[in-house]
Amino acid sequence: MQFTHLDDKDLLFYSRHILLPNIGIEGQQKLNLAEVTIFGLGGLGNLLSTYIASSGVKKINLVDFDVIEDTNLQRQINFSSKDIGKLKVNIIEKTLKEKYPDIGINKYSEKIIKCSQAEKIIENSDIVIDGTDNFEVRKIINKACLLKNKKLIIGAVEGYTGQLMSVISNKSACYECVYENLTDNNSCSDTGVLAPLVGMISSMMAIECINILTGNKSSYENKLLVINGLNISVDVLSTKKNISCKTNCVKFI
Ligand SMILES: [Zn+2]
Repeated sequence: MQFTHLDDKDLLFYSRHILLPNIGIEGQQKLNLAEVTIFGLGGLGNLLSTYIASSGVKKINLVDFDVIEDTNLQRQINFSSKDIGKLKVNIIEKTLKEKYPDIGINKYSEKIIKCSQAEKIIENSDIVIDGTDNFEVRKIINKACLLKNKKLIIGAVEGYTGQLMSVISNKSACYECVYENLTDNNSCSDTGVLAPLVGMISSMMAIECINILTGNKSSYENKLLVINGLNISVDVLSTKKNISCKTNCVKFI
């Protein structure tokens, strides 16, 4: 396996991760070498991209076509009022590069409407993270990851409900297996969204990503985490492959 060199500065910067028994120097080197793609730089993508970069991932692909609006600021914590009207990818890139100057970022400010677009973006990624807010786009990303054999972490927050699942191996239930009947396009502009719940789900997505990259097990393969922000209850539901899945994910077994 290829290893990256950690100098004294790196050893100090990442020392609190290196001390963790399941990360250590080897795990930190894996993080430093990894490439991660993040779709969606809304509430989830804001904190998520920051934690992924702060953990030492040096190659990050950021995908979002949207510009920052006043209504985003309540939960999209890297943005401020002076950023209104600017592209989210540009502001997140600037924020991450200021904090972590040696990071490499590829920006994609295109709307994802075809599977081939997503396939191209994720080509070299070790993990793909979906923090978008649209069922149709999530289905496209899900299919692209199946076709390219990429590990996928999906998170969503709407109203008082936060969800998280992962599609890790060819045995995983995919997004379409779990959400086959959802075609609705509700967004937080219709239902509202509890800001700290976005932080909670994005942090858990970042933990799932770090655990997988450092060689530990996924916690949400064939599982769906559901958090109710109104009473702060947590449920973990079992999921399984749907033999009539519209993505035809059974053929990847
Ligand atoms: Zn499926």
